[in-house]
Amino acid sequence: MSTITTQLAIVGAGPAGLCAAIAAKEQDPDCEVLVLDRMPRAGNKIYATGNGRCNLTNLHQTPDCYHSDSAKDPFSYLGGIGAREVFSFVEGLGVRLYDRDGYVYPKTNQASSVALPLVHRAEDCGAKIQTGVRVTGIRREGRGFCLLAREEKKGGESLEIHALSLLLSCGGMVSRAFGDAGDGAKLAASLGHQIIPLLPALTYLATSAPGMKVLAGVRANGACALYADGKPVGKSEGEIQFTEGALSGIPFFQLSHAAGRALAAGKKLEASVCFLPDEKKTPEELLLERLALVPANRTAADLLLGLVSSKAASFLLRGHGIADEKKLRGLTGKDLLPVFAGLFDCRFPVTGLGPAEHAQVSAGGVDLREVDVKTLASKRVPGLYFAGEILDLDGICGGYNLTFAFSSGLRAGRAAAQFLRK
Ligand SMILES: Cc1cc2nc3c(=O)[nH]c(=O)nc-3n(C[C@H](O)[C@H](O)[C@H](O)COP(=O)(O)OP(=O)(O)OC[C@H]3O[C@@H](n4cnc5c(N)ncnc54)[C@H](O)[C@@H]3O)c2cc1C
Repeated sequence: MSTITTQLAIVGAGPAGLCAAIAAKEQDPDCEVLVLDRMPRAGNKIYATGNGRCNLTNLHQTPDCYHSDSAKDPFSYLGGIGAREVFSFVEGLGVRLYDRDGYVYPKTNQASSVALPLVHRAEDCGAKIQTGVRVTGIRREGRGFCLLAREEKKGGESLEIHALSLLLSCGGMVSRAFGDAGDGAKLAASLGHQIIPLLPALTYLATSAPGMKVLAGVRANGACALYADGKPVGKSEGEIQFTEGALSGIPFFQLSHAAGRALAAGKKLEASVCFLPDEKKTPEELLLERLALVPANRTAADLLLGLVSSKAASFLLRGHGIADEKKLRGLTGKDLLPVFAGLFDCRFPVTGLGPAEHAQVSAGGVDLREVDVKTLASKRVPGLYFAGEILDLDGICGGYNLTFAFSSGLRAGRAAAQFLRK
């Protein structure tokens, strides 16, 4: 077993841990910083973000872009370091950025253009990064910490790391492929912290609605809403994607946090899709207009032509027992009205969330009530800090989770270095 001694140990070299290492070294160049990560390369998940382009922040920032189950005002945990500061920080690494409708990306459209400069800056500042090392346990040692770790390679060595201060930035529980295995929550819990149960978020919703096979592959610009035990718990708009057993696309990703919590609480969950979000007419008015337009020798599917895709039309008609090819002359307004109501409010029972491997972020984590809002220092254990997804704070889709990883990493790293100086 090898023994290593450092002043600040950072567990997790994701964006939060790397920012923390940079901030700590910039705050105090003499501070010894060791960053450990179980994956073979630092900043591993960043490469997959934004479909390989890295949507690193968003210029549109409002409190409702962030969720937490343990803080009433999760936005305050960004501590005033939001999109502009993240933008300047990443540009300061030499990365040229652009924004489209507020969504910020590197000009190269390559996530490596963000990941590598972060790693290089941390190393150039003097932080040591050790990859391929998994921290398996932590115990208090006097005023400091003793970390137990082992090399991930076959036959790898065990390590004992002694540190005066500890920063946990080891992410959540989604995507084992990126190093997540829920270790962060376990390590924080072993130090006495309360954990809000982890659930996948920014993922699809599974549905048991009959007839989904016909909708599979449909993409529709629509509005969606979520009802838990009949009460509205969220709404969103954008391109909805249907698969055989799921409701997907960004609007449903945005609702997945609320969906996860409602399902975990045992509530009956329903999603509503409006296929015509800009339509001013009521279902009755629209039906009358279409019946006046489409002759009675045409089919039921013809009545919906040009309103929704043919597959969505089939789904709605079949859902009300009407065959696509049924002639209109054989149908009454009473038969057709539920189909037109479904254009505006089509209900899908929601039975679950997409699996963690398909999620982009974890909801839940270290209870924010036990973490200082400015420095992200533990209120329970002196010298312990947190940053990034390990905390019970997740953002909506669009650059918000990386914003929080950068913002929290910079503040926690700076605060840890200040703590060590004292
Ligand atoms: C496919 C995908 C696309 C995404 N796209 C975007 C996007 O475009 N914009 C956006 O804002 N967000 C996006 N996200 C979310 C974003 O990537 C994360 O929220 C962010 O990376 C969290 O940063 P972090 O540093 O807290 O954790 P992570 O990036 O998860 O880093 C944690 C690190 O800790 C290491 N670790 C874990 N346990 C241990 C242990 N026991 N010992 C040692 N090391 C350990 C892991 O290997 C990992 O490298 C995406 C996520 C995914 C999965």
